[in-house]
Amino acid sequence: MPDWKKELEEYCERFDIPIEYLARTLSDPKVVPMIRGKAFEYSAIIALKRYLPTNEWLVEKPYMNAQSDAHDIDVKVTHIATQAVVRVECKLAKNGGYRYYSAKPANRGKPAQPARSEISVKCMRSRTMGDEKIAVTAPKIGVSETALKSHRDNYLPADFDVVLTSIGNTFYCTNEAGEYEFKLSEKEEEFLELLNPGHNNHKVGAFEKLYLVRAADLAVGNSRYPVRCVRRTCHDKDNCGFIPNNPLIRFPDGSTEPNNGWYDIKKSKEFFSDFIKRRRTRAEKVTLAEQLAEEATEESNSS
Ligand SMILES: [Zn+2]
Repeated sequence: MPDWKKELEEYCERFDIPIEYLARTLSDPKVVPMIRGKAFEYSAIIALKRYLPTNEWLVEKPYMNAQSDAHDIDVKVTHIATQAVVRVECKLAKNGGYRYYSAKPANRGKPAQPARSEISVKCMRSRTMGDEKIAVTAPKIGVSETALKSHRDNYLPADFDVVLTSIGNTFYCTNEAGEYEFKLSEKEEEFLELLNPGHNNHKVGAFEKLYLVRAADLAVGNSRYPVRCVRRTCHDKDNCGFIPNNPLIRFPDGSTEPNNGWYDIKKSKEFFSDFIKRRRTRAEKVTLAEQLAEEATEESNSS
């Protein structure tokens, strides 16, 4: 474990921050979302290390160049025997992103909808792609410039291999004072009771519920879990290949397991072992090579 007290003191000294006001500074509603997003990357590492045997899998936070053009790898999982790398992207669920839908019978050609709970995950680029970046990127990954321009803040499945999310964030809302607050509706409480029966603290329980999905299973046009693109200017809404900004984790009513490609982190061993058996697409290989080169440069610079 790092010597966090010493590191905090050094940090405050380095940036001239009065340490007695550090907690208040970090509680500012403008600052909180960024801190929580970053902190989740470390929660993810702790959780993955718990479920992946350390003699078979290496879980680490790669040091990436912040100036780099390549998309950062949040968490790198390496299968030690084969040296296969899996890039894990850490994303929080959306505040207030829980919805319950009751069953709907078939109506006017629309199929019947079963009752379900859905949780929306925030999965978009923080820096949208500018025209220059698009002109360079499009030919490299085999996507047209027009298509990229309609999806400036959407990820592509080549950007990372797996998304890991914690559902806890979905039960936060902004209170009257403008602060983030964990607050459950009746339906939400019922849902968490289903996931963690008899848990004495549903907030803690919610943050223990982490889910993994293959990036390829989120993309519009994937054959396993069909999803439509909601981008107004998208010309291929059933098959554009981009990852929607708010992918959903869907739980059939009364079920403790999602049914649209997401896996409980407890199944990490099975999930990652399966993942490394698949073949990488050309776009994935190109992007991965760039990201690993970026990491290697950083390592040689810092050593
Ligand atoms: Zn699209």
